Amino acid sequence: MIRIRGLRKIFPPNTVALDGVDLDVSPGEFVMVIGQSGAGKSTLLRCLNRLIEPTAGEIVLNGSRVTGATSEGLRALRRQMGMIFQQFNLVKRASVMENVLAGRLGHVPGMPSLFGRFPHRDRELAVACLRLVDLEEFAERRADRLSGGEQQRVAIARALAQEPKVILADEPTASLDPRLRESIMGILQRINRERGLTLIVSQHMLETALSYGTRIVGLRQGRVAFDGPPSAITPDVVQAIYEGGVS
Ligand code: ADP
Repeated sequence: MIRIRGLRKIFPPNTVALDGVDLDVSPGEFVMVIGQSGAGKSTLLRCLNRLIEPTAGEIVLNGSRVTGATSEGLRALRRQMGMIFQQFNLVKRASVMENVLAGRLGHVPGMPSLFGRFPHRDRELAVACLRLVDLEEFAERRADRLSGGEQQRVAIARALAQEPKVILADEPTASLDPRLRESIMGILQRINRERGLTLIVSQHMLETALSYGTRIVGLRQGRVAFDGPPSAITPDVVQAIYEGGVS
């Protein structure tokens, strides 16, 4: 589903954030990207949908090249990739429903600027996504009136409303307390198991990564230092991923 070859990102003047990453992700995987701060987790996720422009290498999604895609091609590819951020990135003054409908923007011809113009099917889909994160009753509430955990659930619903092939989540629980962390990870796990959606999630909490991921990718200094199932993570592997600092 996703094929990454020789991915490099150098931030000017000379910070090597990704140093030749090769990775294949199959449909239905729940990939947890781990590694210490600065290892390149966020850069990797953002290169996948070219929020960050890779310096070199190739990314292919379902047979279509993401790297080298024209702006129109990239728009179509981005529709297939939902993104969830650490800071939720909701439109604060808009309602929960409007935020979730924003996930449909890429699908509606003519890009309606007024939320009222969304087709009925989109509204039904948005309600179904809100139900999935158990926030249906908050549909009309302003996003900034919700708690952090609830805001992240709205962000998940927005990503789902996009009907993506894959969801990328960049430290989705880093701003949340431990109880909410488990709740958000539990929702992501349910989406993965029940809908078979492919997830690539960066997570700095090792224990959380191991309890939810079906596959662990350990980055160290911009390179893949480990790639395997959670059961293969031994103390030696943990040391190999986390020790040695960042370049
Ligand atoms: P992680 O998500 O694992 O903490 P990042 O991908 O954020 O790591 O960062 C990888 C490296 O790239 C770090 O050395 C970081 O300082 C650097 N970096 C990240 N974003 C930028 C940027 N916009 N400009 C310059 N350097 C950056």
